[in-house]
Amino acid sequence: MASNNEIGQADSSCLTKLRDYTYKLIKEFEKAVKKLSNFAFVNSGIFRLVTKKVTVERVGVDLGVKTLAYLSTGIVFSGAKSYKRYEKKLAKLQWRNRNKVIGSANWKKAQIKIARLHRRIANIRKDTLHKLTTYLAKNHSQIVIEDLNVSGLLKNRKLAKAIADMGFHEFRRQLEYKCKLYGSQLIVADRFFPSSKICSNCGWYNPDLKLSDRWFLCVECSSFLDRDWNASLNLANTVSHTEIEACG
Ligand SMILES: [Zn+2]
Repeated sequence: MASNNEIGQADSSCLTKLRDYTYKLIKEFEKAVKKLSNFAFVNSGIFRLVTKKVTVERVGVDLGVKTLAYLSTGIVFSGAKSYKRYEKKLAKLQWRNRNKVIGSANWKKAQIKIARLHRRIANIRKDTLHKLTTYLAKNHSQIVIEDLNVSGLLKNRKLAKAIADMGFHEFRRQLEYKCKLYGSQLIVADRFFPSSKICSNCGWYNPDLKLSDRWFLCVECSSFLDRDWNASLNLANTVSHTEIEACG
């Protein structure tokens, strides 16, 4: 019959073995993690293991009002739309401030609040654009964008707010210097290139495509795809119609 002491000794030797085994397992695990660190985990709804950096030679970018950018690779960047999100809040603050005596302590307090909200909106907008432009310049050797006449579009009252919110002008500025930084090439398509009206598969031209049509249906080859995606594919496919801006 084993005494209490013996049981205690048996337990402690078991524990030592268990501890050693655990240490061994942890070391093995660490080794495996080190090997895996060459890989990157990309969150795309489900986790997908990517073995190396995704590099596409040429990418077309269609800028939109509903979504910030549709890439020809099928990746969609939805804009922050920060202004819209905080617009109500901003209006409320400005409305509350309407009867305050200019220069009074309360007026000053409210002005600071409004300024802070403006700064917050601007920061969110900038952050989204930085993420998009860095991704584009870093992972593609050629980036084709539309030559959007922003000031012309801003005259269209309906679109002006949405376009200003997306920060198209800032997008172009960031992309230009980042292309130089990462040694990629920025190609600006001709202003009159009808990127959204041509079928990206067969080249059929649809003159009746309206701004409200969200999908592109080709009567020649029955291609049916998102309007913005079709436009970005057209941008990526065309060289002859584009004016090339050498960077880097
Ligand atoms: Zn077609």
